[in-house]
Amino acid sequence: MNLIRTPALILRTIPFQETSVIVRLFTKEQGKVAVIAKGGRRLKSPFRGYLESLNYVDVIYYTKQTREIQLLSTIESIEFFFRNQPEIEQIAYASAIVECIDKSIRDQHKDETIFQLTVDSLRFISGNPALSREAFFAFLFKLTDALGYKMNLDECSICGKPLTRAGYDMKSGSLICQECRKYSSDVIPLDPEMMNFLKAVESVGLSDQLLRLANEKFADEIMNVLMSYLSFHLDYPLNLKSLDMIRTKR
Ligand SMILES: [Zn+2]
Repeated sequence: MNLIRTPALILRTIPFQETSVIVRLFTKEQGKVAVIAKGGRRLKSPFRGYLESLNYVDVIYYTKQTREIQLLSTIESIEFFFRNQPEIEQIAYASAIVECIDKSIRDQHKDETIFQLTVDSLRFISGNPALSREAFFAFLFKLTDALGYKMNLDECSICGKPLTRAGYDMKSGSLICQECRKYSSDVIPLDPEMMNFLKAVESVGLSDQLLRLANEKFADEIMNVLMSYLSFHLDYPLNLKSLDMIRTKR
């Protein structure tokens, strides 16, 4: 049995038996790991108050290769991102980020780039409530890059010509030019404004410059394209339940 100490984000908590909690963590050192917090729901448990999704914590746990669920030893807070009455958009998009990690990263697959991207995105949303949605878009864009299938915004994936007006081709999971669009039936058109937004996200990433680029008008389409793109490359549909709370609000 080994003892591991690592920073971690809490992805999800599941009550277990009478008083315990199973905690799904995204750790910096070991990737995604499930641990059990024994007695974690008891009033006097030292774990109480820490076992909430979206918390950024420092954990120590015992690990054994043959076990699927590891044993939590101690937990301390590194940073509370959403302590003071966050807005519903903040919680929805932040939850969508951790849900996305939970559903798209393999267990025990260490990836410090994605870990840092996730921490940075949550911190950015906590400090910039008005940019929650744009931060989520930037997160999705950077995540696809980190997973190894970055979206090519410059060239048509079929003929290789530079892209000005483009369309997202659902069949090939890539951007294609105006000319090649004629030969595909499943295309989401991307007007120049949307292309500019995606290019800006690519270059500025998580920055308050996103505010200048945010546009209610095409937000739904950008969401649609980024989610379809990620699902296509993961090879399964990524339905994020966290986004339901804002979908129903509209
Ligand atoms: Zn083309």
